[in-house]
Amino acid sequence: MRSVAVVGGGPAGAMAAEGLARRGFQVTLVDENMAWEKPCGGGVTQKAYLRYPFLAQVPTSHAAVCHCQLRADDAKPYRLQLQHPVLIYARKDLNQLLLDRAAAAGAQLEALRISALERTSTGWLLHRKGASLCADFVVTATGARNPLREYGAQWTSKNAMLAIGYYLPLRTAQLDIQFYSWLQGYLWVFPRGNHVSVGICGKGANQSAMRAALERYLDERGIPWKEGRFYAHLIPALEPEDWPRNRVAGDGWLAVGDAAGLVDPLTGEGIYYAMRSGELAAECLSVHASGAAQAEIPTAYQQALQQDFTAELAIAAKLARVFYLGDTGLGTAPRRMIQLARYNGHIRQLLQDLVSGAQDYSGLRARVSGSLHARVLATLTRYLRSSYARLEGLGADAAAVSGTTLPSSTP
Ligand SMILES: Cc1cc2nc3c(=O)[nH]c(=O)nc-3n(C[C@H](O)[C@H](O)[C@H](O)COP(=O)(O)OP(=O)(O)OC[C@H]3O[C@@H](n4cnc5c(N)ncnc54)[C@H](O)[C@@H]3O)c2cc1C
Repeated sequence: MRSVAVVGGGPAGAMAAEGLARRGFQVTLVDENMAWEKPCGGGVTQKAYLRYPFLAQVPTSHAAVCHCQLRADDAKPYRLQLQHPVLIYARKDLNQLLLDRAAAAGAQLEALRISALERTSTGWLLHRKGASLCADFVVTATGARNPLREYGAQWTSKNAMLAIGYYLPLRTAQLDIQFYSWLQGYLWVFPRGNHVSVGICGKGANQSAMRAALERYLDERGIPWKEGRFYAHLIPALEPEDWPRNRVAGDGWLAVGDAAGLVDPLTGEGIYYAMRSGELAAECLSVHASGAAQAEIPTAYQQALQQDFTAELAIAAKLARVFYLGDTGLGTAPRRMIQLARYNGHIRQLLQDLVSGAQDYSGLRARVSGSLHARVLATLTRYLRSSYARLEGLGADAAAVSGTTLPSSTP
């Protein structure tokens, strides 16, 4: 195998093209839009820029945000000072950065739309308006609305979050996240260089209820949105039972990023997994490029993904519903964490790790329940002790004024 066609030039396709070109493949990347403002928050976590340090090294292309205002229903907001900033990219800039790297590595970029793929005895024909392209192997990186349905994840509406939002020509330095007890998802306000991306994503929720919640949120904070550009899009969020049978590769092709359903079903983070799957795809193709080894590509790629992150994302899929909607009488997990963060350093650290991507999902359930039970008890005890001490102080003051004494007791 010598020539590879990569269809789609988002983070997944650009990374795959770069990795393949660096390994000496003849790579053609095609995208109908090339660098464009794909509907997205553009949030890049510490997990992503630790693995890909170049993401943090072009300071003009992103905003590094150090504060996050967390809200849940009517709970008092909590302002989290981030230990590791979140980088917020305009997607046009991020895509351009990654496409430039692919081109510098030797990939040929072509701005066109592929309408269909056809398997031939020697490889592939990629159909487009006018002529066709030929390639030995195809990587589909066509995103969540993959028009080449036969070559990627076979997901249905139950495997997706709906995301709607606005780009607003405003400036702010703070990142806002709002949770609702009725929504398996969240609302965000992400500051970017010269504008703000606001949106709301959720699974199984009604689109008009989500839109009304978003517009109410903006109205209540006096954020003008009526002149903003509206968008609606999908975020893959596979159900737990769909991860083991997720179709990511087949004879002569493999899929990367959203086209393969590779998004964190709890947070909706997809940029990191798009980039990582593109990188893993390139590694896998180079190891299995010749002769009979090519037949092993689907299994090898599936295993590489499983070892790297899909096992974790399958756990996230199991946690998502209970995390957002589960209520043990004291509110949902986000609400309780936000309420307790101001009193409890463990909860604050847990929130830091969730935002930065440092918290793995295999340990999350134990950490959340440990924090929200043992630690809640410790926090409540401390809170009650200090309230009691205040009351005793007040009692002493009152006694000094009235001449009476409150009964003494031990906390
Ligand atoms: C509203 C919203 C907010 C999000 N916020 C975040 C966030 O803050 N952080 C985060 O990590 N993730 C976020 N995500 C997820 C993230 O946007 C995706 O996971 C990521 O873009 C996936 O990258 P990709 O390369 O797989 O696909 P895309 O970025 O979708 O790229 C696909 C490319 O394929 C091209 N294409 C499609 N069909 C064809 C065709 N037939 N011929 C030629 N070209 C074609 C398109 O033009 C496009 O450029 C968000 C998603 C949404 C919808």
